[in-house]
Amino acid sequence: MQVPVAGELSERESTELVELLRQLIRIKSVNPPGDEILVARHLERVFAEEGIASTVVEPFPGRGSIVARVHGDGTGGDPLLLLSHLDVVPAEPEGWSHEPFAGDLADGYVWGRGAIDMKGMVAMEAQVMRRLARSARAAGRNPATDPIPGLRRDVIFCSSADEEAGGWHGADWIVNNHPEWLHAAAALNEAGGIATTYGGIRFYPIQVAEKGFVVYRLHVKGRWGHGSVPTPDNAAVLAAQIVMRLSESGPVRLTDAMALSLKRALPHMAPRAAKVLGALLADPNGGAGVEAGDVDAALRGICDPVLGRTLSAVIHDTVSVGIVQSGVKYNVIPGTAMIEIDCRTLPGTDEPAMRAELRRRIGEELWARLEVEFVHVGAAVQAPLDAPIFGILESVLRDHDPDGVPVPFMAPFATDAKHLARIGVPTYGFSPLRVGDGDGLLDLMHGDDERVSVEALRWGLPVLWDAVIRFCS
Ligand SMILES: [Zn+2]
Repeated sequence: MQVPVAGELSERESTELVELLRQLIRIKSVNPPGDEILVARHLERVFAEEGIASTVVEPFPGRGSIVARVHGDGTGGDPLLLLSHLDVVPAEPEGWSHEPFAGDLADGYVWGRGAIDMKGMVAMEAQVMRRLARSARAAGRNPATDPIPGLRRDVIFCSSADEEAGGWHGADWIVNNHPEWLHAAAALNEAGGIATTYGGIRFYPIQVAEKGFVVYRLHVKGRWGHGSVPTPDNAAVLAAQIVMRLSESGPVRLTDAMALSLKRALPHMAPRAAKVLGALLADPNGGAGVEAGDVDAALRGICDPVLGRTLSAVIHDTVSVGIVQSGVKYNVIPGTAMIEIDCRTLPGTDEPAMRAELRRRIGEELWARLEVEFVHVGAAVQAPLDAPIFGILESVLRDHDPDGVPVPFMAPFATDAKHLARIGVPTYGFSPLRVGDGDGLLDLMHGDDERVSVEALRWGLPVLWDAVIRFCS
């Protein structure tokens, strides 16, 4: 028997997929503390039942990750990596209509923390592995050792700990200690492939890039004094001025990925939105067609607020003020203040460039009152847009939703892709889900009532399957 090429989904597989997701949600893996080992062990049992060889590692107590592999005949090149993470962010039950860790199946949805980010994709990727193993067994082969019929590349499954806190106890550890486990031509990961409806059109953003980050602590030097005699040397006042300047948005820069994204989207836009995006493409900073050169306002005018902010974030190096501290007592003028900031950098903006941008925004006079403490940096990543895998991802989306429009996209946040980039594995965000309005990634990720519809999962698995088969056979 050959590997089935079209992704027809049987009732059995559909039920297995939904039930696996519900089980994964019920195994609480909130980071911190994580406890991902419990989910990893569960997947190890699921794979063992199918005869799939897997390895669970626990390099830090409770922080488990799992890697499994099925084999191709080796004639097709390097493997495809199905990447995911096992941890989820916290959920407070108060805001939810279903208990966040019960894995309820109600009203056509699987409810719970992780349904979208990203146990739904973990379940879909595991189901792809199950199906590959079954096709080997049906051909009288051992999926732990023998090539899967029709498969020319290996398929690796890796679901790791700690992504929600940087991946240091998960993907980072594996990359540092067992890079050979993840060596692949490309990886499919979270944060792309989920339908986003805009102007009545279903767009499928395929994540090809993600922003980096730089964290700084800015120590403001003022002068201590008596509260009865106010002074401009008050460090809290200086900090307030600095915060105001940092909150202004900087220059626009269109990276290759975002320029291509806008070009692909443009023909599907209503006239007003097309005018704004066209002007942005023609002249990213201050194009005459972008009202008063104010890109943020123009985007707000054509998008809902969440999408508008997201688009703005992926065409700017952004600064978000996270912590402001100053003062000891009401009648003591503070001589020091501390501002902790979260800078998110576009591909091509390194740490010195970000520091220079901060200096430009803050201005020389206030900059002179600062000591800049560098805390942390993570580079932005960009996968090739001309790689065969990207064309395959676009074509399977078109085949399964002929009215949908696939577009490349940059995530404003970081995922484990940054760790894979260090060993040269380009990562594409592709967890295909055909969801309706209000059910998308931006609506539900890390929010209350996180859920995924059974229909979306049933659509997504064959899409993922076809992508895997087209790339690997
Ligand atoms: Zn995630």
